[in-house]
Amino acid sequence: MADWDYEIFWKETLNLIQKEKDEQEFAMWFDLRYLKSTENEVIVTVPSSFYRDQVQSRYQDYLEAKVRELTGKDLAVVLEVRPRKTAPETVNLEEPEENFPKNTENTGKKHIAIPKERPPHQKLNRDYNFDKYVVGDNNKFAANAAMAITKNPGIAYNPFLIYGGVGLGKTHLMQAIGNYAHDNSNAKIIYVTAEDFTNEFIEHVGVITHVNKMAEFTRKYRSTDILLIDDIHLFGVNSTATLEELFHTFNALYNAKKQMVFTCDRPVSELKNLTERLKSRFSQGLTVDLLPPDYETRCAILHKKADFRGKNIPDEVIGLVSKNISTNVRDLEGAFNTLIAYAELVGRPITLEIARQQLKDAFASPKQTNISVDTIIRVVADYFSLAMNDIKGKKRSQNIVLPRQLAMYITREITEYSTTEVGQFFGGRDHTTVMYSCKQIEERIHADPTLDSTIQTLIRMIKEYNTKI
Ligand code: ADP
Ligand code: MG
Repeated sequence: MADWDYEIFWKETLNLIQKEKDEQEFAMWFDLRYLKSTENEVIVTVPSSFYRDQVQSRYQDYLEAKVRELTGKDLAVVLEVRPRKTAPETVNLEEPEENFPKNTENTGKKHIAIPKERPPHQKLNRDYNFDKYVVGDNNKFAANAAMAITKNPGIAYNPFLIYGGVGLGKTHLMQAIGNYAHDNSNAKIIYVTAEDFTNEFIEHVGVITHVNKMAEFTRKYRSTDILLIDDIHLFGVNSTATLEELFHTFNALYNAKKQMVFTCDRPVSELKNLTERLKSRFSQGLTVDLLPPDYETRCAILHKKADFRGKNIPDEVIGLVSKNISTNVRDLEGAFNTLIAYAELVGRPITLEIARQQLKDAFASPKQTNISVDTIIRVVADYFSLAMNDIKGKKRSQNIVLPRQLAMYITREITEYSTTEVGQFFGGRDHTTVMYSCKQIEERIHADPTLDSTIQTLIRMIKEYNTKI
């Protein structure tokens, strides 16, 4: 043994850590397997670069301190990415891989054979994985929970519900869970949108002559290990039978401890077409929300995209795009793709000038201006000679109610906030109040078209005010 073979120390380090951390934290973040050592380093492997980044930011110092405690030396702990070929929960890791049975059936033993390479999942986009998912303050909690689920599907957080506005990474995160499970286990994974689920159900139930068709549908969905249903806000008004089936599927999978993940563009409580019992099922696990990324995260996303595509984009261009496109990641990507396409077309590198020129329409889009709700409330209050507190407060006199409803309506029109968030800004009101207010204004506009021009004037004033501050 060379002087610097630290394998035994590493095992001891993990034992020490296991005693200090709670079980779940240890299982989740200390899957760090010894690889080799050099004189000054202990090199261990991690399953993905996402995992590496998370461990580095949370535990790098802690790990090195623990190693120092045991070895008395200042060693660096180096994390090397090595995708795991085996599923950590089901496979006995002590045994060499060759000893695993070659077929994919559950042999009744502790370990399950895992094909070396599964062909890509038909319904999952390979690019929607954890390595390509940039984690920022806006999605940290959601991304960590998603990682935790891959470690402990069906148990840690079931169901897992991701909600957030369009283009904020719901589908990407959901599919990252699916891709991870697909690559690291034999789990059967179904990914569908709410629309596809509905259509498939109707197709099966509609064939009266083939009674077995329905059984086939039921069997398919109830025998899956992981069920991913995207965009559950798209279940239609007339989906009673589909939702009934979904309810039973949910219960069967839940009881069998099979992981379910759903995405939705608003809080479940705001979904009109779902039955109460389904809503309560959906909310009984963990719900996380995705917010629009902040400036730093937007830059990080563009850097990562440029890296993956092997493009060299100057920092100042990335800064410019990130500063001007703040709505969501999809818009950000759209702008980025426009730039790359242009650069390829003309065969020139992207400069600030080119970026400004090519993206001027995208930058000018009204969605891009970052307007705060307080600005909206201030301008509306001023316009009607009220105080901001009148708008946020509880008074119900007619001269206050209309401006308050208008301010809520405008907020929904020109920002990306959900009704729940808007309610919070308006003195902690319920989202149903916001929905009701918006409806009231829509009806008033119908009856009195001049109201619309008042609204347009207010929106103009709000934008002007916003550019001044
Ligand atoms: P949603 O389902 O919420 O509408 P998507 O998951 O389709 O949004 O994301 C839109 C695009 O933005 C996708 O191409 C996705 O890869 C990308 N994207 C979203 N969030 C991130 C992120 N945090 N890091 C990298 N790319 C992201
Ligand atoms: Mg989506």
